[in-house]
Amino acid sequence: MPRGITPRQPARTGRHEGVRHVRRTAVAALRPTRRSAVAPPRAERSPARKPSPAATKPAGAKSRSKAAYDPLAPERIQEILRRLDQLYPEVTCALQHKSAWELLVATILSAQSTDVRVNMVTPELFRRYPNLQDFAALTPEQLQPEIRSTGFFRNKSKSVIGAAKKILADFGGQVPEQMEQLLTLPGVARKTANVVLGTWFRKNEGVVVDTHVQRISRRLELTRNDDPAKIEQDLMKVIPRERWTLFSHQIIWHGRKLCIARRPKCVDCPLENICHAADKTWNTVEIHKNAK
Ligand code: SF4
Repeated sequence: MPRGITPRQPARTGRHEGVRHVRRTAVAALRPTRRSAVAPPRAERSPARKPSPAATKPAGAKSRSKAAYDPLAPERIQEILRRLDQLYPEVTCALQHKSAWELLVATILSAQSTDVRVNMVTPELFRRYPNLQDFAALTPEQLQPEIRSTGFFRNKSKSVIGAAKKILADFGGQVPEQMEQLLTLPGVARKTANVVLGTWFRKNEGVVVDTHVQRISRRLELTRNDDPAKIEQDLMKVIPRERWTLFSHQIIWHGRKLCIARRPKCVDCPLENICHAADKTWNTVEIHKNAK
């Protein structure tokens, strides 16, 4: 017998390796199967195939490598904040104001408008009506021409005059410092309240979610929501509280300077290599379909 060839021995268990045991009926057992008639069992026909490299990977290795990227990982958030600090070290609200009341009026006027436009209107407005009592004494028809260029001037004039009257009636003529109280004023929702509380009163009660924050927090995968209230809740979970107001202003400035809506200037953006937004205009990293 040539060396290396060992005759097959029956297994002690009575079962032969490589032979498939199929339960067959008595009649079927008499019929030869195609395989047993013409070909030996697969194990005897050819050596076992080498497993592919992919198959030798431990189960779940692929999913683990994908799961390794977490857009909300604390290290990534810290890196975003660090780069924003370098980019916009001491930014604040761009609306010109000298008091809480002026900031409140300017923020109400900035809805659906731009800070630049509002800043063109408010100096003359506050020169003509220097304090809150002057606004409370106006009729909407008197105020409308003054603020017409900011858009939605009929609603805005009602809001400003209504807020002035309520502050006089309920808060002793002082703009309230509490979120719940501010939200009782006409024309004031969380965005406006957050601007006033964070910028004038230095209170981090929430994140200002305007159109820039809405767009960029999605691009940076800090939220998947579209609704400003839900975006604010998402941001409040991942951004440290002491950073809420500064973060809002930094992102708003970033939205004006680089991360603009239609064609963001990604080639100039220091956040580029940690940004996976789907609509980037220049890219060195993988694009994530979930980001917008
Ligand atoms: S890389 Fe582009 S899309 Fe991302 S934050 Fe910067 S400007 Fe915006």
